[in-house]
Amino acid sequence: MLFVDETYQDPSSGECRLQIQLYQRVQSLKFVGCSANSKQVKWLVCPEVVLTSDRTLMSNYHRNEFLGFGTCAPPNFVPDWFYSFLFFPPLKSYRGVPMEAPYGLRKIEAQLLKEGFGVVTVSPDRLSDFSAEAKIIGIHTMDPFGIGPASSTLAAILKKEPFLAQHFSALLKSPAVRKAKKNGAKIVVGGPGAWQFRHRPMFAEAHGIDCVVEGEAEAIVGSLFRSILKGEPVPKHIQIEEADAPAIDGIPGIVKPSVNGLVEIGRGCCRGCAFCNVTLRPLRWYPFEKMLREMKVNRDGGINNCCLHAEDVMLYGSKNTLPNEAKLLRLHELVMKNTLSISWSHCSLAAVASSPKLIAGVSDIVQGVQKWWGAEVGIETGSPEIAKKIMPAKAHPFRAEEWPDVVRSGMGLMHDNMLIPACTLIVGLPQEREEDVIKTMELLDDLRSCRSLIVPLFFVPLGRLKDEDWFERAEMTELHKQLLFQCVEHDFRWMGSLIDLAFGGKWYVRFLKEFYKVFAGVAKRRARQAEIEVLQ
Ligand code: SF4
Repeated sequence: MLFVDETYQDPSSGECRLQIQLYQRVQSLKFVGCSANSKQVKWLVCPEVVLTSDRTLMSNYHRNEFLGFGTCAPPNFVPDWFYSFLFFPPLKSYRGVPMEAPYGLRKIEAQLLKEGFGVVTVSPDRLSDFSAEAKIIGIHTMDPFGIGPASSTLAAILKKEPFLAQHFSALLKSPAVRKAKKNGAKIVVGGPGAWQFRHRPMFAEAHGIDCVVEGEAEAIVGSLFRSILKGEPVPKHIQIEEADAPAIDGIPGIVKPSVNGLVEIGRGCCRGCAFCNVTLRPLRWYPFEKMLREMKVNRDGGINNCCLHAEDVMLYGSKNTLPNEAKLLRLHELVMKNTLSISWSHCSLAAVASSPKLIAGVSDIVQGVQKWWGAEVGIETGSPEIAKKIMPAKAHPFRAEEWPDVVRSGMGLMHDNMLIPACTLIVGLPQEREEDVIKTMELLDDLRSCRSLIVPLFFVPLGRLKDEDWFERAEMTELHKQLLFQCVEHDFRWMGSLIDLAFGGKWYVRFLKEFYKVFAGVAKRRARQAEIEVLQ
């Protein structure tokens, strides 16, 4: 049980009330009682559910999502404390309660509040302040074991455990979690990385995790937590089937700010790529009002950025692979009226390539306020044959055979309109032949002049390919190595100008920029050295 003392100085000035309002805004107080005298007001807080995630997720990455990729790297030539400051600094918090938190955690928090639970979302390094009385500790995770595509690639190359896996394991081993377990609390883990527990069956048992929830959990989290509170047995691993994914009306709006003002605009994807988990989920779009309410929550919490989140922002409001021009433009007008800056989580090259006028229209709206915006984009392969086999609808409305041209056209349009993509390529796809890798390398050559980052990822068996083998470092051919270095060269070609674009603004950010340039310079020298040794 935790007492929160607020010094009561002058009721007419409202000073105490302001402090309490701030506290209420950042966490849900389950108000049990208060004792007041002329000097003090005491609030009694008994959150039965405490939500958190590890340090690598409780960060706003200096308000630049691209820097979040840094959490996938293992320890390197920069001291760990300085690396974490550069790539995942901790969030500002008030008495252990962060002012913003990962969006997935905010959704679960909102659902639990709606169902009447006492819930608080806390910083992992202050978990001990809240865990003594907790009955359930909910932990959100993206990549708990560092076996997601980006982290497993870096771990395989650099042969060390990535930061995000280290921090996840450190959280579970922390004195706060151990003490809570001793007091009888149950540990529940969920989030986009929950699938990884199927590949580490002993980990949950060994680390005292009582239940892992995989999939969209809003519809079941309340009944699951009620069962736990009643002491009923619950399954060790719950997989929520796609058919049980909540409809839009069943997804609550966040009630506290999300990291970098992320706002979901839809769920699911209609393209059906065989290597992807998302593709199995139904396509649903949020109405404007629902998104505006979430933007207001972020703005009221002091977050004036907005990251629009969907698997393909270009397809907002569409029922197929053709963008809905009116809805997409209206969405951007509304966002730019309600926030100070925008970014996209993901978009598809095919939707951009199919709508040159539309992307120019969106760019006009965005550039009325900022110089550029970013998104994650999947190139995956330069081979039309591979595209036909495993992602036949990725190029739609174009034919799969036209995929390399779709990529060239989409990337050119993004360059012209100042949409900067962080692109992924998949290395070692099942059935990949030498000529497929060569076609990918030729495509990369053609993208030299497109302002972008291109990140090669080792194939990870997900989606309909979940029974295939993982691609391992030992399987890399000379061509694969050349492809990897081609990506590194592409990225370093653009790194300087991307850092300049990303870190304008405030004085401390401009100061920070110089550190990133030094980091990039050292990384470039080391990569070139490795390239010489490997290719000799
Ligand atoms: S387009 Fe992207 S989100 Fe959609 S199925 Fe393919 S990889 Fe998954």
